[in-house]
Amino acid sequence: MNITLHGVAIGGGIAIGRAHLISRSMDDVAHYGLEDAEIPAEMARFDEAVRATRKELEMLWGSIPENAPAELGAFLSLHIMLLGDVTISREPREIIEKQHCNAEWALKLQCDLLVEQFDAIEEDYLRERKNDVLQVVERIFKNLDGHAPQLPAPGDLLDDTILVAHDLSPADMVYFKDSNFAAFVTDVGGATSHTAILGRSLDLPSVIALHHARELIREEEQIIVDGQQGVLIVNPDELVLSEYRRRQRAWRDAKRKLSSIRKSDAKTRDGTVIELLANIELPQDVEVVRGSGAVGVGLFRSEFLFLGRDTLPTEDEQFEAYRKVAEDMKGLPVTIRTMDLGADKNPKWLNHDVADNPALGLTGIRLCLAEPLMFRAQLRALLRASHYGKIKILFPMLNSLGELKQSIAQLDYAKQELHEEGLPFDAEVEVGAMIEIPSAALVVGSFIKHVDFLSIGTNDLIQYTLAIDRNDDSVSHLYDPVHPAVLKLILHTIRTGIKGGVPVSVCGEMAGDPRLTRLLLGMGLRKFSMHPASLLAVKRMVLNTHLDDIAPIAGRMLRSEDPDKIADLLQLLNTEPDV
Ligand code: PEP
Ligand code: MG
Repeated sequence: MNITLHGVAIGGGIAIGRAHLISRSMDDVAHYGLEDAEIPAEMARFDEAVRATRKELEMLWGSIPENAPAELGAFLSLHIMLLGDVTISREPREIIEKQHCNAEWALKLQCDLLVEQFDAIEEDYLRERKNDVLQVVERIFKNLDGHAPQLPAPGDLLDDTILVAHDLSPADMVYFKDSNFAAFVTDVGGATSHTAILGRSLDLPSVIALHHARELIREEEQIIVDGQQGVLIVNPDELVLSEYRRRQRAWRDAKRKLSSIRKSDAKTRDGTVIELLANIELPQDVEVVRGSGAVGVGLFRSEFLFLGRDTLPTEDEQFEAYRKVAEDMKGLPVTIRTMDLGADKNPKWLNHDVADNPALGLTGIRLCLAEPLMFRAQLRALLRASHYGKIKILFPMLNSLGELKQSIAQLDYAKQELHEEGLPFDAEVEVGAMIEIPSAALVVGSFIKHVDFLSIGTNDLIQYTLAIDRNDDSVSHLYDPVHPAVLKLILHTIRTGIKGGVPVSVCGEMAGDPRLTRLLLGMGLRKFSMHPASLLAVKRMVLNTHLDDIAPIAGRMLRSEDPDKIADLLQLLNTEPDV
């Protein structure tokens, strides 16, 4: 029997394949009952995992370099101490015995109890030790002999595999980026979450926010993923299968047809040149960019180099990565955003406590300014790479002129150091500011004389203007790119840039949505940066647009504060082929 689920469409066409269920977090722990006779072996398996964890921690402790900060040793000895505590090493055994359950489940129950107790503590320092407990428990999970939740090795996936997960983190998406699989679906997530953005960049059919897909679908079950309509069909019958095979062919034909404009210049009918640039996450994405017809990289989200690994990349490692992108783009511009970590992108090595409101916490440029040595290493690597191509540097999540000035001061400091060391770099390297917090959009006029360009991050600008968590699908219906307040902030930024002679681009997901291309053109935007997979659809809109024709409708949209009227005008604006 067909079961149909509806979620948020991420794009990428239609896939028909076999489900592969992904287990990952402690929220997704296997739970099974045991016979009396199996209990001693299960307790022994738990003891063995604790022993292996202790060995790992002691080895780490033994390998601390002499010049390492004292906190590192303190941190490891705290973990060894916690591991020795009865609440972690003994009580889960009692749960196994009493509840006749598997070791993972017993550990999870005990961990939940400890977290609850820590949360109730008044004193900040003690309450924050909860994360240490979680880290120790996570290590024991990993050592539970292959029963631990884990991601499949990329090489184990087949071409028709459809990944079904409760959630995938941005780091998981990076892990899967180079593997072959047909599609992915998740229970949670918002349309502009980083998981969704990476999914879009894979150009695979994907649907998120399906709520119970992970529970309903069984391993190896046949499923259809329609990434255009946001639909998932489990166990389709022959009739449904043949209809979706037909739609799959139509989608592929349309894509093929679109590729005929790859080499055309992106010019409107009146001859205005529009710059279409690409967003990338990793150096190897450049290959796709070069085939897409993009005239440069408008946003390299450099923080993905920092995710999915146990240590911070060194300055030299970063330099090699940036140099590779600059060289591979053969003189075309490459805008590299300094690391935008925090919120949903937390590398393993960053030992910051999880904040109550991570999107309002120590993210982006705030984190860089709080960790000047880490920031300086990246700035030095970027500058050194600027000698090998056309690199531009972009600062994310700025909220004031003060933060912009501090960032530029750090860059100047890095330049001075390189100069003294005799290392070559582009002394004229262009510097840009991301406008993605309403406060920055409102004071953008003060940024103008300090920067060479501006880039509007609409994903966050919408999140912070409308107070909508971009990762939370329960409010995704309120996430509205054409909300009049959002449009006013974008318009103000574009106009301020034009007036001050500073180029402005949009690099959020709005830039890659062909339904919004004419509106953005009508607002005066001439530079769009998006995932390469969206580039041709946007180019088709550009080629089909005469700026004089769209101006009156776009003007009416921008003057209106009525969402219904704006929606009607948007539809009118997009009437094909002419306005
Ligand atoms: C944005 O916020 O629009 C943006 C481009 O940055 P990110 O999506 O990586 O937060
Ligand atoms: Mg952003």
